[in-house]
Amino acid sequence: MKAIGVDLGGHKIAVGLVEDGRITARTEERTEPTREPEPVVAQIVRMAKAFGAGAPMGVCIPGGLDATRERALMISNFAGWNGLPIRRMFESVLGAPVVVENDANAYALGERLAGVARGMSDYIVITLGTGIGGGIVSGGRLLTGAHGMAGEVGHIVLGSDEPCGPGCGGLGHFEAMCGADALEKRALKIGCSDADISLKDLWARREEEKISPLWDFALETISRGIASLVHVFDPEAVIIGGGMRNGEGFMENLGERVPKYLGLPFREGFRLLSSSLGTDAPIFGGAAVVSAAIENRA
Ligand SMILES: [Zn+2]
Repeated sequence: MKAIGVDLGGHKIAVGLVEDGRITARTEERTEPTREPEPVVAQIVRMAKAFGAGAPMGVCIPGGLDATRERALMISNFAGWNGLPIRRMFESVLGAPVVVENDANAYALGERLAGVARGMSDYIVITLGTGIGGGIVSGGRLLTGAHGMAGEVGHIVLGSDEPCGPGCGGLGHFEAMCGADALEKRALKIGCSDADISLKDLWARREEEKISPLWDFALETISRGIASLVHVFDPEAVIIGGGMRNGEGFMENLGERVPKYLGLPFREGFRLLSSSLGTDAPIFGGAAVVSAAIENRA
């Protein structure tokens, strides 16, 4: 089946045509600078139509949606979108079926379409990047919850009083402790200078006496988060996406730390995998959500 996947970001928009689990055409543009709803919708539809008319489109947005996936609730860095019926706006301009989904949830569905979750019905995706996102597929379905907000693994509480970012406002959340921004702030506190706090550099220096406690803290906290989720959802695998996993030896190190937090019956079946989709994950994810929606309607 042919479907179009869209990754809407604050700085760039990527649109791809996905056919039988492969991207066969792809285009990318700078996001229209006002980031206002109508011009951005028009830009995305124009990019999608370049691949021919009629294919359904799945749009990944960097924010939350209501339970019916009709309205945007909270898109970071896009003022004026809250409460708009964005699914219908896209559909009326495109003239083909459109589904909108939170980008981390779509990433999770993309892993099943084209990544390491192929054939799985129970798995958790955690993206470790500037923030921490994720999606949970349980019994073959993406968990969306009573209000459309389920699967926010970056906001499980693993600390106590660390303030989470604007748009959240809770305390002690996973992302406020282990997101790249949080770890870089922590690096400044232990005396690193602004110039050498990129996570890539910090990972390269992980054996240094000053730096190693920072990574001990991060990896142990991430491990506790993973173990907690495993106990609740009993997944076939936990799949890690986002830039942090690319550090040499990062995944192995994490994989060694998780089991001690797991109850004995959970240890044997525990699988930690690295996402295989990379930056194209949202394109696959968009195509996956719209394909799934059309199958469910049929
Ligand atoms: Zn939070």
